[in-house]
Amino acid sequence: MRIDVFTLFPEWFAWVREQRHVRNAEELGHELRAVDLRATTPLPAGKVDDTPYGGGAGMVIRVDVVEAALRARYGTDPVELPAERRVIALSAAGRRFDDALAAELAGEAELTLLCGRYEGFDERVHEHLASDVVSIGPYVLSGGELAAMVVCDAVLRKLPGALGHAESALEESFSPALEGGPEYPHFTRPARWRGHEVPEVLVSGDHARIRGWRRERSRERRAD
Ligand code: SAM
Repeated sequence: MRIDVFTLFPEWFAWVREQRHVRNAEELGHELRAVDLRATTPLPAGKVDDTPYGGGAGMVIRVDVVEAALRARYGTDPVELPAERRVIALSAAGRRFDDALAAELAGEAELTLLCGRYEGFDERVHEHLASDVVSIGPYVLSGGELAAMVVCDAVLRKLPGALGHAESALEESFSPALEGGPEYPHFTRPARWRGHEVPEVLVSGDHARIRGWRRERSRERRAD
């Protein structure tokens, strides 16, 4: 898989690329690249934004700036791109990102993420240059970078070989093994801490009982 993140802060993604599962994914041939939206702007002095029509506070990222960045990267007319690949504009007002969408995106060969700033993108970016508009939650971030990092993290850890222990991904929150529910609680040493004991079943050595206990705890959490 190749993920391109278009951002005004490409250097922030160096940290993401240092993360273990991202490094594992890159060693397996997957790629995560940060593309500087400012580097290809057609406007003077690296300008990328302008005042909103209709008035109001803040600045809006221009559609021609995003168009130029996409054209420089892919060498094709950017309005054709959404039909060819997933181009995801990050926006608080978009479709909610969840595990099912992460799994869907993990099946793509190429992904493009567009990080907004200021008041966000000119709406024509969402309408004509993106295939999806995605939100990571019902709150407003200062920019799309953290949202893109969340998407990259959740998607890349789903790629075979990205996690050190493949079985970690098989039975975790929202996986089919847990019927799409949250994961059961974990405990480790010490077995007794400030009078709080770990559940007896977990130290019983009875694997069938442990499995049953975990399924039950997962179901209980889903019911909460
Ligand atoms: N004026 C916008 C609004 O009221 O929804 C907020 C713009 S926000 C300050 C700047 C950028 O951050 C957005 O263009 C988007 O890329 C990103 N962003 C903010 N919240 C987000 C969220 N919950 N999910 C995904 N991206 C978000």
